[in-house]
Amino acid sequence: MDVLTASQRSFCMSRISGSNTKPEIRLRKSLWRLGYRYRLKSDLIGKPDFIFVTPQVAVFVDGCFWHKCPKHFVVPKTRTEFWMKKINKNCERDRQVSQELKQSGWRVLRIWEHEIKENLPACVERVEALLSQ
Ligand SMILES: [Zn+2]
Repeated sequence: MDVLTASQRSFCMSRISGSNTKPEIRLRKSLWRLGYRYRLKSDLIGKPDFIFVTPQVAVFVDGCFWHKCPKHFVVPKTRTEFWMKKINKNCERDRQVSQELKQSGWRVLRIWEHEIKENLPACVERVEALLSQ
């Protein structure tokens, strides 16, 4: 673990401790306040962070390290091959999951953690846009 920077470690820890990462909570609380009702649990592939039933919208909040965000991802300096294999596998799975969900009629939204930190209202709008389509 000590090969990770502090921020990478916090992404890592938030991932391990479950889906209740802070940016995700901020996003859904904002939506809740606006009157949108979502579910946290589902049997869906890829375990979306939260879903809306009508219309069917699945929202994923992706951590910048584990999902290789283009803005913040830094290749780990040690055990590079090990980490990259793991992370690339995550990314490939993300794509597969999104594709499968879309094929079964879900609208899929993936939001980077940093997008919520930088501009929460814009993220709320993206969810709203999908819900109102
Ligand atoms: Zn990022």
